[in-house]
Amino acid sequence: DTAGPTPPADCCRAWHGAATIAVFDTTLPGTMANLYSLIQAALHKRGSAIVVNTAAHDVSALQLDERVGRYAAALLSLGLRPGDRLAVQVEKSFDNLVLYLAALRIGAVYLPLNTAYQPAEVQYFLSDATPRVFVTTPSRQAELAQVVQVAGVDSLVTLGVQGDGTLAQLADRQQFSAPVAERAGDDLAVICYTSGTTGRSKGAMITHANLISNACSLIEIWRFSSKDVLLHALPLYHIHGLFVALHCALLSGARILLQPRFDARMVIDCLSQTTVMMGVPTFYTRLLTEPDFTRERVRNVRLFISGSAPLLDDTFHAFESRTGQRILERYGMTETGMITSNPLRGERRAGTVGMPLPQVAIRITDAQGNALPAGSAGVVEVRGPNVFQGYWNLPEKTAAEFRSDGFFITGDLGTIEADGYLKLIGRAKDLIISGGLNVYPKEIEAVLDALPGVIESAVFAIPHPDFGEAVAAAVTLQPNAHQTPENIIATLRTQLAAFKTPKRVYILDELPRNAMSKVQKALLRDRYRQEFTNG
Ligand code: AMP
Repeated sequence: DTAGPTPPADCCRAWHGAATIAVFDTTLPGTMANLYSLIQAALHKRGSAIVVNTAAHDVSALQLDERVGRYAAALLSLGLRPGDRLAVQVEKSFDNLVLYLAALRIGAVYLPLNTAYQPAEVQYFLSDATPRVFVTTPSRQAELAQVVQVAGVDSLVTLGVQGDGTLAQLADRQQFSAPVAERAGDDLAVICYTSGTTGRSKGAMITHANLISNACSLIEIWRFSSKDVLLHALPLYHIHGLFVALHCALLSGARILLQPRFDARMVIDCLSQTTVMMGVPTFYTRLLTEPDFTRERVRNVRLFISGSAPLLDDTFHAFESRTGQRILERYGMTETGMITSNPLRGERRAGTVGMPLPQVAIRITDAQGNALPAGSAGVVEVRGPNVFQGYWNLPEKTAAEFRSDGFFITGDLGTIEADGYLKLIGRAKDLIISGGLNVYPKEIEAVLDALPGVIESAVFAIPHPDFGEAVAAAVTLQPNAHQTPENIIATLRTQLAAFKTPKRVYILDELPRNAMSKVQKALLRDRYRQEFTNG
């Protein structure tokens, strides 16, 4: 296997002295293993410096800690105790950020829910995780009241984007700041439901030690400091915006420009103040469609980071020629936090996700779990302090996804190049087996994307009576492109083995994606499943 640089990444020690030992010793007593105690120490160090800007407010470090203390007291007054779950489905806002920190502070287990979830889906999460309190937006209170009752949740409170709602009022009435609760490193901090593109989504149990170790490693390898200003346009219900972005900034004392959502115009307006931007690939493709997104605009930005979905080589190169900067791509998942990253100094290699973080080991295995040599394609497995504890209420599912030596089976397919860079080639469940032969979608997508006029593509399987599965592709085209499904297939026949060549090509206006920029291949499979069969 391939291990990251020498442990430990003790970047937190600089401002928190002995408490950082808790990062790597999950048995230490007291509040030291609570992630919020590290955040609080960093905030106290920054004092009256501004650490969050929103459209309406400039918030100093001490004001942030004070507001978190009030929210924490409000949560205690609702009966939340360490270990209790707090489910939250609200629009992104400053108070949403505060609420997350308040949950950490009192040792509650934060359960973020995508705002797109409908009542039936919310009911599933509430019944599965049995939170004591559920926070929703004021406008959805009536709609969700019954769901909350059926799931047996004690309290339903609301939080709006303007800091309005019953929970915000309760926080405003609090007279004291709740103390930081004692936690052990292996106590749960968050349960994050996976996006669940197939089957029911599962609750990943993430501990304080998982979050702290990952944040410290990222701060170290990306050299975050209090001089940084982070542009935050990601959602707060997913690990990219909630953990990677927030923790790097808060623990290093950096300032956060908190935007309600991604809007290319708003981002461009803020770039002159920004030093680091984190985004999903679509942020970058959208920025590139704006003519005034220029080298001049980004001259204060030292780092653009991309993740959560594959960054196209074309985007990487177009971005570099427009801005003179190479996007740094990293890879992670809900269950593991961040796993690999391209280097800050050193080659950022397009089409790869870089090397393992400090203390993280990765390997590529075959279906039986045997490690494969460099260059071979197989499943990515990962082990380290970043890896979650398991799936909530699903011990068997958890056991099935860990090897006996502690490696977690990510379900991603990849290869490790001879010099250690990891290249992802798709999800194992997206692997196509046509006539008994393996087809890796990424390989076909790369050939499609290189055709003149093709913007991007998604290759997926559809049922076929003869081959079991047939290769199919959806592509998007530039407006003036002269491509048809027939001539795309004809060209591909000259470049790929017959079994890899798509039997069908569909030209779409855009690929179906979720909010994190991931292409929804399950939707494509579903849409075209009857092309060759009735199934
Ligand atoms: P989630 O748990 O929603 O964060 O999704 C995790 C999955 O996103 C991973 O297992 C990968 O399949 C995918 N992913 C994350 N980062 C990247 C990346 N840089 N390139 C390609 N896929 C990625």
